[in-house]
Amino acid sequence: MSANHYLLLTPGPLTTSKTVKEAMLLDSCTWDDDYNLGVVQSIRQQLTSLATTTSGYTTVLLQGSGSFAVEAVLGSTMRQHDKVLIISNGAYGVRMAEMAQRMDIAHHVYDCGETSLPDAAVIEQLLQDDEQITHIAMVHCETTTGILNPVEAVGRLAKQYRKRYILDAMSSFGGIPMDIAELNVDFMISSANKCIQGVPGFAFVIARVDQLLVCKKYSRSLSLDLYEQWECMEKYHGKWRFTSPTHTVLAFAQALKELEQEGGITARYQRYSQNQRQLVTGMRQLGFETLLKDDWQSPIITAFYSPKAADYHFKQFYERLKAQGFVIYPGKVSQSDCFRIGNIGEVYQQDIAALLVAIKQAIYWENKESV
Ligand SMILES: *Cc1c(COP(=O)(O)O)cnc(C)c1O
Repeated sequence: MSANHYLLLTPGPLTTSKTVKEAMLLDSCTWDDDYNLGVVQSIRQQLTSLATTTSGYTTVLLQGSGSFAVEAVLGSTMRQHDKVLIISNGAYGVRMAEMAQRMDIAHHVYDCGETSLPDAAVIEQLLQDDEQITHIAMVHCETTTGILNPVEAVGRLAKQYRKRYILDAMSSFGGIPMDIAELNVDFMISSANKCIQGVPGFAFVIARVDQLLVCKKYSRSLSLDLYEQWECMEKYHGKWRFTSPTHTVLAFAQALKELEQEGGITARYQRYSQNQRQLVTGMRQLGFETLLKDDWQSPIITAFYSPKAADYHFKQFYERLKAQGFVIYPGKVSQSDCFRIGNIGEVYQQDIAALLVAIKQAIYWENKESV
C-alpha cells in the first residue's frame, strides 16, 4: 500500500472502487443530452426504485454534502406556521435542531440521550400534547454512535397522526434494505458518498410527489429550494439548476452499477453486517468493548470505548494504524471516551482481518512503550 493510499474505515467519504474513480476521467457538458437524459435521469430513476416499489415517489439531486440536503428539506417543506418534532440521539439530530433554529422554524427537540433509543410512547404523547406539530424528523442510523433508530414505529405514528415524516437515512440508505412507502416516509435524505459508495459532491432527497408539489415557494433559501431544484430536473429532463457536480455524478452512476452487480442492497447489507460482526468479535478478543449493545447496533459504524491505559492517546493510536494503511474515526459521543470504526465502502472480510492484526500491533506498541 502506497503512503497516500489508505483504507478509509469512516462513514464517508469512504473507500471507493478503482472503477468508480476512473469514471471521473471524463468531462461532461451540463446541458448535453448524453449527460442529462443519459446519466442524471437514469440515476434519479434508479434511486427512486431502490427506495420503494410503490409509485408516486421522485428523486431530487442537490449539490453539496449531506447536510445541505437536510437543510434543504427542513427549509423547503415547512410553512411559516409549521412545527417540526426533532427526535435526537446524536450529533446529526442536534444539527437538524440547529438548522431549524437558524431558519426560524418552530421545533421541539425530543432528546433521548446519545446511548438510548427514542420511546414511541413518549413521541405519541408529544404529538397528542402539541397540535402545532406538523412534521417529524429523525435520523435512521445515527452515525455518532452507530445506533439504529426505530423507523417503523415512528412511521406508524406519523401516519396515525397525519404528520409529514422526514428521515435522514444518510448513512443507511443503500446499506440497509427499506421501503420508504411502507415506512410512511415523505422525505428521505441521503448522499453520494455513503452506502451507494460514490464520491462526495451531492446529496439526494427521495420524496412523495404529492408532498413535494405543495412546497412551491415555501423555501427560505434560493439555492437550497428543493421544489425548484426538482421542477428544473423534471422540466428540463435531468438538468441541475446551477452547475452540476458532473464528475461526481459519473462516479455515482458507476457506483450504482456496482451496487447492482454486487446483488443489490440486500447483498450489500449482508456484506456490511458480516464486516461488522467480524470486527466486533475480533475487537472483543483484543479486550475492547462496544459502546452499544449488539441489538441496537447498525452494520454501518461501531463505537468502541477507548483503552483505559493511562498512556493511550487517540492520535497516537490513529497514526499507528494509519502507518499500516488504515484510517479510523474519532469518537463523537460527548459522554464517553470512544473511537469509531466504519465498515462501509469497498471493505471486505480480508480487510477487517488485516485491520484487526494492525490494531493488535498498535496496542502491543502502546504496551512496549509504556514498559
Ligand atoms: C454523513 C451524515 C450526514 C451529512 O453529513 P455531511 O458531512 O454534510 O455529508 C447527515 N446525517 C447523518 C446521519 C450522516 O451520517
